[in-house]
Amino acid sequence: MESDDLIHFDRTHLWHPYASLPPAYDNHLISHAHGVRLYMADGTPLIDGMSSWWASIHGYNHPRLNHAMTEQLGKMSHVMFGGLTHAPAIELGERLLGITPKNLTKIFYADSGSVAVEVALKMALQYQLARGLPHKNTFASTHSGYHGDTWHAMSVCDPVNSMHAMYGKQLPTQYFLPSPPLGFDTPLDDETRLDMDRFFGRYHDRLAGFIIEPIVQGAGGMRFYSPEYLSHLHALCQYYDVLLICDEIATGFGRSGAMFAVNHAGICPDIMTLGKALTSGYMSFGTTMTTDKVANAIHDSPYPALMHGPTFMGNPLACAVACASIDMVLDMDSPTVARDMQDKLFAHLSPLTSWQQVADVRVLGTIGVIEMKEPIIMPIFQALLPKYGIWVRPFGKLVYLMPAYVMSDEELGELCGRLIELLKEYFDGDTP
Ligand SMILES: *Cc1c(COP(=O)(O)O)cnc(C)c1O
Repeated sequence: MESDDLIHFDRTHLWHPYASLPPAYDNHLISHAHGVRLYMADGTPLIDGMSSWWASIHGYNHPRLNHAMTEQLGKMSHVMFGGLTHAPAIELGERLLGITPKNLTKIFYADSGSVAVEVALKMALQYQLARGLPHKNTFASTHSGYHGDTWHAMSVCDPVNSMHAMYGKQLPTQYFLPSPPLGFDTPLDDETRLDMDRFFGRYHDRLAGFIIEPIVQGAGGMRFYSPEYLSHLHALCQYYDVLLICDEIATGFGRSGAMFAVNHAGICPDIMTLGKALTSGYMSFGTTMTTDKVANAIHDSPYPALMHGPTFMGNPLACAVACASIDMVLDMDSPTVARDMQDKLFAHLSPLTSWQQVADVRVLGTIGVIEMKEPIIMPIFQALLPKYGIWVRPFGKLVYLMPAYVMSDEELGELCGRLIELLKEYFDGDTP
């Protein structure tokens, strides 16, 4: 098929994320990708600022990751995990235990981030059931969170962003604190602390768990908050025996400048979910990890089995490429790489604070966020991308970058410089 025919089919038959069908504007046709570049069907290279939504941390088509997967492909691409096991799953488990907080000892392999979150919620419910507390059967979170698109995961996402109103009564009702105060360095003020204390005082006896993205709220608003907030939340959860579920699906493997964002606060959650960069974007995969305390309570109950088991659980291809990706994360020392990129991203993006259209510029690790005063008009922005040779996907008022760790200083400079030029044209030259 010619490019035009491909786009025509796409526009007629294929749904894209959070999009209408037919779409409001055309998707760009990509033929291949290498390193930090996506190549359009007509050959135009785009420097990738998105890492395919946090995932592709080592860039595309990496020889070491390709090798790990093709080697595994020659042995077996998949076998069922019920009654069978294999070295890739076990070797990945060893690596995960080596890098995650040390109390996390038990691992469930899921097939995507959302499913990892569903499993985390089930774990928490089964834990409370096991302890004879069936009334502790709902969940709490904060506003501006994002935990995936499946049913229960959606119920703990920001109620406005994830359109709880649209799904109405079918969605389970959960409890929400206000969004954590903005800013990694913002001290925890008395009012926020008191709000949190009161919230737990009021609802703890019905809460199985509290789920939150540690330090960085991603798809729900690209917000950074303080380790102090997370530490206080952890203390409250411990005090009231509400399991703290930290969703590291976006932040894991160095993205925020620490190997895991929970490390900023020096805490160990009761349950932690991983996904996205776990396979460096090669395969859909996720994990849910927990402590001996939680796993043993479930095991010693009348319902000892954890009731989940996807067909592609522990997929060997995904495990093999995840092992290679983690080895590369350790070899490069990704948290150091991220802290280094933080300074450079800030230097490139901070001049935008003086623009009248810009509300805020914030950077943490390899995450650079430009918050506009008005939502970006996507058809206009999308159409400008090939001209400037970059790939950036804003949502709402947020234009953000999260480059692959392997992006060179020169490429990062080009990406940011071209984004600024693109925004100048988008705002019709009405910028400094
Ligand atoms: C992306 C994401 C998810 C969902 O993962 P999927 O693989 O898209 O199902 C859950 N939680 C967080 C924090 C995420 O960023």
